Amino acid sequence: MEFALSDEEAAFQSAVRQFGDKVLRPHEREIDAGGRIPDPVLAEMAHLGLLAMPVPPEYGGMGASAVLTELAAEEVGRGDFSMATAVFFLLEAGWGYVLSRHGTEAARREVLPPVCEGKAFLGIATTEPTGGSDLARMRTVSRRDGSEFVLRGEKAFVSGVEEAKRLGGGHLTLTRVEGGGFNFLYVPTRSEHLATQRFENMGRMGISTGGLSYADVRVPERYLIGAEGKGFDRAMDGFRVARTFVSAACVGAAERALETGIAYLREREVFGSKLGKFEGPQFELADLYAQVEAVKWQCRRAAWLLDRYTLRGDLSHQSEVDKAVASVKLTAPQIAFDCVRRVMMWFGAAGYTKDVGLELGLRGVMSYLVGAEGGLNIMRIILGRELLGREFVPYR
Ligand SMILES: Cc1cc2nc3c(=O)[nH]c(=O)nc-3n(C[C@H](O)[C@H](O)[C@H](O)COP(=O)(O)OP(=O)(O)OC[C@H]3O[C@@H](n4cnc5c(N)ncnc54)[C@H](O)[C@@H]3O)c2cc1C
Repeated sequence: MEFALSDEEAAFQSAVRQFGDKVLRPHEREIDAGGRIPDPVLAEMAHLGLLAMPVPPEYGGMGASAVLTELAAEEVGRGDFSMATAVFFLLEAGWGYVLSRHGTEAARREVLPPVCEGKAFLGIATTEPTGGSDLARMRTVSRRDGSEFVLRGEKAFVSGVEEAKRLGGGHLTLTRVEGGGFNFLYVPTRSEHLATQRFENMGRMGISTGGLSYADVRVPERYLIGAEGKGFDRAMDGFRVARTFVSAACVGAAERALETGIAYLREREVFGSKLGKFEGPQFELADLYAQVEAVKWQCRRAAWLLDRYTLRGDLSHQSEVDKAVASVKLTAPQIAFDCVRRVMMWFGAAGYTKDVGLELGLRGVMSYLVGAEGGLNIMRIILGRELLGREFVPYR
């Protein structure tokens, strides 16, 4: 067993931390207020190889391991506390990986290089207005018409709708097939007969969330991900990867909150003594630190399992992978939220101001509690299924 990072991993982690400190932190307010990640920030991410990291070099990526990507996700989540940049980062990483692994050669060569350069967006569209957890009930359908697929239906709460319209790009889209099965298709957002809508969120304002309506949108068959009718498993493959990076970003946000809190506990005087000398906040800090350390290493182990099995197409340890990923997606957002909330309390009234900035993290991390990349109860259902057996899944 080896817990130390390799020299290459440590050097990359340090480079991304510097990027977080020097580029993301100074821009995070602008990202939140302006509703987008500025182009120079995206360009710098592309320059560092941070866009769609696991995509192989022949398609423009750096062919990074899940562990290296996880380390970078921690730093991006720590750098831009609003989580907007982390969301952009992990969507490109997770779904870029899926397209590079399961897409057609023509689609890889066409779609991935601009994504890796920050000149196009790639996201995921599974959720519908009728619900995101119960994917089996989705209504968006795709039917084959010669060498094309025709989509009809609607997706909702999809990240990056505006970015894909502005930069170019699109979403890997899960659709039902009449007669059974699912097609997973790359759908460019600028397609004809595709309408978009922007939703007003309470946080992570620098990346849009919106709706996509398909009124007989046609896409070529080269955009099919995996075999026809068998797309569901491909989407789940992507969720395993993306959920690990979500959790890593939450670890980074939790560490950022603790750093902010530690500095304040050291400096704030109350009743003639430093705040950090009082047992209340000091013990709370100790508890939070222990929880963040635990989930951080759990998260790195999940990434290690992905490298060892999932990213190699090896399904032999699927249950172990699913348990590891569901565990971190269940706990990391809750721990991160708890860290931000409690540190806010140490600050008293100042914690409630925008000057201290903890509200950025509170609003951002909340997205991963309400549902983004799968709700908490869905993680509990996955764990229940793996621990008790499929007959204990509370739905069919
Ligand atoms: C900021 C943000 C960005 C998002 N980006 C994307 C995106 O890019 N692409 C995309 O496709 N979707 C995206 N989503 C949607 C996300 O995937 C869904 O929110 C999530 O899947 C839950 O679906 P839902 O919101 O419809 O809630 P529902 O499925 O209606 O669930 C409501 C609540 O009930 C719980 N629940 C559901 N079923 C059960 C059950 N069987 N037992 C117990 N509890 C249950 C859920 O955990 C949740 O708390 C995003 C969401 C947010 C908030």
